[in-house]
This record gives sequence, C-alpha cells and structure tokens, in this order.
Amino acid sequence: MEADRIYNFNPGPGTLPLEVLKEAQAEFLNFDHTGMSIVEISHRASAYDAVHSRAKADIKELMGLGDDYEVLFCQGGASQQFAMIPMNFASPEHKGSYILSGQFSQKAYEEAAFLNVGEIAASSKDGNYVHVPQQSEFDLDPEAAYLHVCYNNTIYGTEFHYIPLTGKVPLIADMSSDMLSRPVDFKKFDFIYAGVQKNLGPAGLVVVVAKKSFLETASDDLPTMFRYSTFCKKDSLYNTPPVFSIYMVSKVVAWIKAQGGLKEMEKRNRKKANLLYDVIDRSGGFYRGHADEVSRSLMNVTFRLPSEELEKKFAAEALEHKLGGIKGHRSVGGMRASIYNAMPYEGVQTLADFMEKFQKTNG
Ligand SMILES: *Cc1c(COP(=O)(O)O)cnc(C)c1O
Repeated sequence: MEADRIYNFNPGPGTLPLEVLKEAQAEFLNFDHTGMSIVEISHRASAYDAVHSRAKADIKELMGLGDDYEVLFCQGGASQQFAMIPMNFASPEHKGSYILSGQFSQKAYEEAAFLNVGEIAASSKDGNYVHVPQQSEFDLDPEAAYLHVCYNNTIYGTEFHYIPLTGKVPLIADMSSDMLSRPVDFKKFDFIYAGVQKNLGPAGLVVVVAKKSFLETASDDLPTMFRYSTFCKKDSLYNTPPVFSIYMVSKVVAWIKAQGGLKEMEKRNRKKANLLYDVIDRSGGFYRGHADEVSRSLMNVTFRLPSEELEKKFAAEALEHKLGGIKGHRSVGGMRASIYNAMPYEGVQTLADFMEKFQKTNG
C-alpha cells in the first residue's frame, strides 16, 4: 500500500485498483498521444471510440455473453434506471413485479408504483431485510412485464446466491454493488444494470447489459433520453457520454481480465469475506452479523457491536489503523466493511486482526 493511502471500506464510491489509478494518473495530461487529457477530447474522436468499444467488448467477454446482448452506457445513476425500467417495459396491464430485499429495491418499486405499473412478488421487509426472499416465498404474476431483483443489497449486506426462476417473465437485476465480482449465469437475465461507483469505476455512469430481444420491446413513446432505443440506435453516443467514467471502467475491466477474470475475483472475494465472517462467528456474540447466513454478501459485511459507544470507538480506532469508511448505514447501524474487487486481501486481514484486538481490549 502507498504510505499516504488508507484501506478504503466505503460502500460507494468505493475503492478502485491502485494500478488503475496510477495508470490513469500517468496518462492524464496526454491521452494516447493526442496531446490532450481524456477529459478534454471529443467523444467523437477515434482515440475515445477505441476506449468505448473496448469497454463494451471486455464487459461482455467477462460475462460470457454474445451478440444477442447489448451494452449501454447511461447516466442518472442506478436511481434513474429505477424509473426508466417501468417507463420502458411495464404497463397497467403488464405490471413490473418486484422483490423487496432492501432499500434500493424498495426505491425501484416505488418508481413503478408512482407510474401505477408496479406490484410486489415477495418482500423480506418485515424481518428488517436480514435475508433475500427465497424462491418458495415468491408470488409471481405470470403476466408480469418483468421481475426486478436487487442482487446485492449494499446497505444490509445480503446477496442473492441463486437465480430466481421466472418462467416466461423477463428477469431484471440491479447489480450495482456486485457486478463482475463473481461468475453468474448472466444468460438467465434479460436486463442487468449497475451504477459503476461501487465496484467498477467513478460515479456518473450506469452500465446496462441487456438481451437485444428484450430491449426491442421497450417503449418508443417517451422523451428521447428516457428511451432505451435511443441508446441502442446511437451506441450510447446520442449525446455526450460520461467519457471519464467509461475510460476508468475500461481500465477496471481490463484489470479484472488481467487478474484472471470473474473466477479469480470470486476466489479472492470469498476468501476475504470468509475471513471477516469467521471473526464474527468466533466472537461469541461480541460481533453480531446483520445478515442471515444463507444471504450473506461477499461485497458488504455488516455487523454490530454490543453498544453504540463501542461502535463509535471501533470506527475511530479503525481509522487510526488506516481502516476507513467502516461505519454502517444509518438504517442498519453498526459497521459495514465493503470489500469490493479492488480491496486487497491485506486490507481485510488488517481489519480482521484489528477486530480481534478490539474485542480483546473491549470485550
Ligand atoms: C448505490 C446503489 C444504488 C443507487 O445508485 P445511484 O447510482 O447512486 O443512483 C442502487 N442500487 C444499489 C444496489 C446500490 O448499491
């Protein structure tokens, strides 16, 4: 680690690979012999076009997807997708169906409900979202326009470890906080989206990966920038895309490829998550995990301490050990360690050691 940097456990924007940051720094003033910075060149320039195309191709390659899938670059965050999805795909006759597994899925549902095109297929809200609803809990309308799930619940630290079976109903997933963290049978999904600032790059960009045949069913009866068809027809270049974010994502996906792809990411992410869950499980109740074991996230590890005073002390002392961004979301309380792809094993090891030491002196 660089002497002046910390291990950054923030949930989002989150940590990025140091190699990628350094590469971007080295070429910041003169991108690809253009004599201009990547943030100064035209989005119509051929030097930019190469970045745009490579990012799209690498994302599809990592996900094992072929020509029947399209990659789109949108703006407005994952939150804008919450509205665009029902606007484009749902109607009062064929509503969008939602699995409520945390705050972001709730917000997604609320946008559809605002448009009078949303319904709920399952919810774990009553149990304070300690698990993601399992298949047996679904009540899915076979005529639904789609089923929407939030694959990793960033705030609660829960994650889907199975792919919902939906029959003929198209499957949509918000993968903002776990996209490209492990291999998934992405072909089972019709539409996947991610605000990139959690695991893939700097804020300002949403990556959409969707089946072309599903995108073709999107509404054309919408203002230009709210139609997926605009992004499809113009290769996400109808207006100025977030050039810098796409450039950074292209570097992050190249980095993932160079590390060994999604299999290697999963191996590392499991090892890191297990290290923390083991400390929690061995603590005799000093650390209490929020998530049920079946739904534990590999990306966000949430836990509480015996008192709020100890939680404050924990966060403050963690920072003295160069462990930052560890405070949990206000709705869950306690701590949250976000251990995205770019968090090195040493960072998690340092946190695990700190947790054990903290328990010894305060338990
Ligand atoms: C952060 C987050 C969002 C919101 O993303 P924005 O890009 O800030 O709108 C949505 N879904 C999930 C799973 C998230 O983690």
